[in-house]
Parts: sequence; structure tokens; C-alpha cells
Amino acid sequence: MKVAKRIVNLPPYLFVDILKKAAEKRAKGEEVISFAIGDPDLPTPSHIIDRLCREAQNPENHRYPESAGLPELHKAIAEWYKTRFDVILDPDTEVLPIIGAKEGIAHITFCFIDPGDVALVPDPGYPVYSIGTMLAGGESYYMPLREKNGFLPDLNSIPGDILKKAKLMWLNYPNMPTGAVADTSFYRKVVELAGKYSIPVCHDTPYTEVAYDNYQAMSFMQVDGAREVGVEFHSFSKTYNMTGWRIGMVVGNAEMIKALRTLKSNMDSGIPQAIQYAAIEALRGPQDCIEEHNYIYQRRRDLVVEMLNDIGIEAKPPKATLYVWAKVPEGYTSAEFAEDLLEQVGVLVTPGTGFGPSGEGYVRLSLTIPDAGLVKGLSKMAGWRDQKTKFKAKRT
Ligand SMILES: *Cc1c(COP(=O)(O)O)cnc(C)c1O
Repeated sequence: MKVAKRIVNLPPYLFVDILKKAAEKRAKGEEVISFAIGDPDLPTPSHIIDRLCREAQNPENHRYPESAGLPELHKAIAEWYKTRFDVILDPDTEVLPIIGAKEGIAHITFCFIDPGDVALVPDPGYPVYSIGTMLAGGESYYMPLREKNGFLPDLNSIPGDILKKAKLMWLNYPNMPTGAVADTSFYRKVVELAGKYSIPVCHDTPYTEVAYDNYQAMSFMQVDGAREVGVEFHSFSKTYNMTGWRIGMVVGNAEMIKALRTLKSNMDSGIPQAIQYAAIEALRGPQDCIEEHNYIYQRRRDLVVEMLNDIGIEAKPPKATLYVWAKVPEGYTSAEFAEDLLEQVGVLVTPGTGFGPSGEGYVRLSLTIPDAGLVKGLSKMAGWRDQKTKFKAKRT
């Protein structure tokens, strides 16, 4: 049997080694506390689940769903964008429900990337931007996100010949994994560049509602001209703890939405309708669950940052997202530090290089770990520090 090159040539999952080591440790009966999972540990709010159960009982929802999504869901998404961002969208042409942001992100590459084309991809970043590009036969040009630039790409440094070949630009703020945020002045530069070189922009923004210290993240669609050059992917996963239900949305440029809608109508048959109703309930129902969740995450964030700083690891509290992006101590690579933590004290963190070459020098800690595990994990990390100071004392 011959497996196609696009599968054979997929890069190996970068955390394979460390996950294997963690599994071995667990098999031996040793405890491993994982800060590596980016999946809300809190349940989906009950009013959303109640609606899902009710709709599941209705035989009308047992048949093929409407492929492009229920008109009612299109409307609810447009209403939410109006309420939350004061952005007016045409529910029919500027909104499309998708099977989670990941599905839309992977598939839109097939709409704009032909073999040999280039996609501009943030580094570090969500791996699907570059893998989707590769599956479509294109190549990724990595835009490094550096701390000195607030983890925003330096748009002026992208070479002219790359800009001419670029057929898609990926951006993601509030950013995973760095926790950085972007403002209007950055997005204005994006609109200008995208307009000049006719580069469709895809802004991936599942974390606008996971924010702290009263920070309000903005939508790319709030910027003048954004809808002429791009779309925005959003998701129910992180906002409403709905990762397991697989539903998201893409809004903005009608031509881009139409292309994705056409591709999808040939590949999938839509989102199970009971889940679409659950999404409508999420958008139109009470929103106080968001504040409740953020209160929990913010406390965890503060505990994690304090502990890291305490053990001599530099980390700043992010304004949004579910992650703390921490600098590895001197003398370690990202992978070495993650391995040492796992081996010495049974704590698992994600090496920054798993998100791209510019992730070197960092590790990602997720805040989606239940409180009891979090406290235990942090005290184990304190144990790591104590071991190191003893070790140093012995050497000198
Ligand atoms: C979680 C996440 C996604 C995927 O969201 P789904 O809607 O669950 O597919 C996309 N992009 C980023 C940056 C994420 O962190």
C-alpha cells in the first residue's frame, strides 16, 4: 500500500518524546502533573447542555443538517458580533458556522493556496496554519514573534518577493502560545499591507472572551477595511467550555466565506443540528458564566506566575488566553528544561519549540488544570528549585 506524500511528509508531532516519557512514568505508578493540556477543565454551562439534550430529542434534528448551518445560528452569530464588538455582519454572506475553528482553519488553506504559493504564518503559532498550508501544497513563511516587538510580527521585515507570492496571512490575537494582545494600530498596518499586495488575511481569535484584569480584546472586524481583506475565525470552545462539541464560526469577507462554504459543501454535511442549537443558546443565553470562568483562570494565572518568578523563571501575567509563556532558565533549551522538570519532579510543560522555531527559550504552561493539581504541580516545581540550589551549593 502506498500512502500519499502529503501524509508521509507530515512533520512528526513535536512533543512525541516527552509525552512518551510522561506515559512511561505514569505506567510505573509515578505521578505526573500536566500543565500541557490546552482544553478547559470546567464543564459546559448547564443551560447550554439542557438545550442540547432537548434538541437531541427532536426528530427534525436527526436528519442531515443544513450544510451551511441553520439560518438562526447565522443570525445569532451576527447579533453577538453586534453586541460584543459593535460590528454589523450580513448573517447570510458574512457568517459561516464551522466544525470548530480548527476545521475551518485547515480547510480555508485549500481555498487560497495552490501548489507553490506562500502563506505568512506566525512563529510560534497554532500548528494548523502551517500544516494546512503544507497539505494544500504551499509553503509557510514564518513571521517570528519576538518579545521586544510585543510578540507582534515585524511586517516591515517581510521581503518583497515573499509578499508577492503570499496568498494567505495568518494572525492570532489574543495570542496562543505567547498570551500577547494586539491593538488597532497593528491591525491598521495589517489592512494596509494586505490591501497593497492583495493578501487575504485570516485572523484566528478564539480567546477574545478569556481575558483578565478587565481587559477587553478587540475583533479584527472592528478595524476599517478589515472586511475588505480578511476573515476572522472564532470558536465556542474556549468561551463556553465547548471543545468537545466541535463548533465555531468564521465571519468577514464575503468572497472568502463563499469559497470556504463551497469547499465545505463538497466535503462535510454540516454540524449536528442539536449542537447548532446549543451554540445559539450559548450566544443568546446568560453570559455570566464567562466572568465566573475568567475569575478562576485569573487566580490560577497569578499563582502560576508568582511561583515561576519565585523559582527564578521569568514570566509575565498575560492579559488574555489560557497560557503562561515562560522563559526557560539559563543553560537549558526548551526541550531540555521540559525534560528535566518531568524527570526530576514529574511536572509536564510544553516546550516552546513545539509551536515553531522561535518558541526556543520558552515553555508554555496551561491554566486548564483543576485547582488541586495546580497547587500540587506548583509545589513540585518549588521542589525542582530546591534541588537545583542544593546542587549548585555542592558544586561551589
Ligand atoms: C483552541 C484553538 C483553536 C481551535 O479551536 P476549536 O474551535 O476547538 O477547533 C484554534 N486556534 C487556536 C489558537 C486555539 O488555541
